[in-house]
Amino acid sequence: MSDGGITSRVLVGMEIHVQLATRTKLFCSCAVEFAAVPNSRVCPVCAGMPGVLPVLNRQAVEFSIAVGLALNCRIAPFTKWDRKSYYYPDLPKNYQISQYDLPLAADGYFDVNVDGETQRVRIRRAHLEEDAGKNIHDTPGCTLVDLNRAGTPLLEIVTEPDIHSAEQAYAFATELQRLVTYLGVSEGSMQKGQMRFEPNVNMIITRDGEEYRTPISEVKNLNSFRSVRDAIAYEARRQVQEWQRDNGYVLGKRPNENRGWLDDRGVTEFQRGKEAAHDYRYFPDPDLVPVEIDAAWLDRVRGQMPELPRPRQARLEKELGLSPKDAEIIVTDRATADLFEAAVAAGGPPDVLARQFVNVWSALANERGVAVAGLQVDAARMGRLARLTTDGTVSATAAKQIAERMLESPDEPATLAESLGLVQVQDADQTAAWVAQAFAENERAVRDAAANPKKAQKAAGFLRGQVMRISGGKADPRLVGKLIEERLAELRTED
Ligand SMILES: [Zn+2]
Repeated sequence: MSDGGITSRVLVGMEIHVQLATRTKLFCSCAVEFAAVPNSRVCPVCAGMPGVLPVLNRQAVEFSIAVGLALNCRIAPFTKWDRKSYYYPDLPKNYQISQYDLPLAADGYFDVNVDGETQRVRIRRAHLEEDAGKNIHDTPGCTLVDLNRAGTPLLEIVTEPDIHSAEQAYAFATELQRLVTYLGVSEGSMQKGQMRFEPNVNMIITRDGEEYRTPISEVKNLNSFRSVRDAIAYEARRQVQEWQRDNGYVLGKRPNENRGWLDDRGVTEFQRGKEAAHDYRYFPDPDLVPVEIDAAWLDRVRGQMPELPRPRQARLEKELGLSPKDAEIIVTDRATADLFEAAVAAGGPPDVLARQFVNVWSALANERGVAVAGLQVDAARMGRLARLTTDGTVSATAAKQIAERMLESPDEPATLAESLGLVQVQDADQTAAWVAQAFAENERAVRDAAANPKKAQKAAGFLRGQVMRISGGKADPRLVGKLIEERLAELRTED
């Protein structure tokens, strides 16, 4: 940004909490369940009763290792558990079990695509911890506490301040969501609070060759991609304005602060000054043994990891010739990408299949609020529909109608094309008759096309649409186009 003789650059480091999709909690066997009856998924361990012993959930550790590997991190061969002490009604033990100085994963990076350009964000660390419960303030005069969420495994990922724009933060957040859902370690639902983003934002301002850094503000608990983007953009503006108003507004002279995002007003507001780490009085949890992760365990986890979205997208582009945009859309959801590849393996031509996934199947899926894979259409049938389009049996428009019918009917696409009367007519005489009718009904367009070369293409397109309408979608568009061109050429020579 540049304004009034100063330039400014935003620096963002992100903290992300990812709720892991384990069946049970991190240190007890209570079920992890969204929207269960309050306090129905609670035992003495997660309720913080004295004298109980936590038992580590192995699955949570393996999910975390998988994320660490996917983020190109070093996985700690030895990691331990620490108590982070603070007092809050939703934390009955008065401490949270977390990892302080020996996180499970560290020193990685994550490449994200911003407007077609790859930008690297370094990952400082990723550690496992338990979630707190939830305070409910909707009864006047009292606060209720629901401990169902207490003890749910969270992976906290912390990046270096390598994010330099609100758009990059948005891309980072969406690609991270895609990654964890691909790995199957989290549902990654923002609505259910399974991913929460906390950007740490400050500005580097340059004036007359002198550099100033504003205090860091941490925006708490953002739970939509849009709010991540908008909160960072807002903070960048606000911090420059505060700096311009107040000379003392620089890092070190003013404390860092926590701020909340008010979605309806599109602003952040001050919550409190930030605690330094020592306020939490971290110390090793005496009830839990350290975890040792050896090479064999790492290999086992690595062996169970699927192909990750970015390399998969690159492979689809290279091997099947898909455009980057189509490949990105197909790869967004792992089950959908699997379905696409199965349809190709069943003989579907990749180019037409990709177009049908992006334009036809995605539209039908969106209408139903599911991913393409959620439509439950067999890959081989999808492949055969694509072949019908490729060999000219049905038009692209007719394929849409057939696809829709395939959602309810187990019949083959070819059978449905017959029964819907959508098989293209290859008969040249019949097609010529339709073309003649379109010419007769649209004298104006015909005159334009014949007289004015500039309008010819548009008019020809219009006439082609008319022929398709007259034929009830049964004419072969390629044959129609050819006949229209021939007729227009004849008219021009007559003139
Ligand atoms: Zn429990």
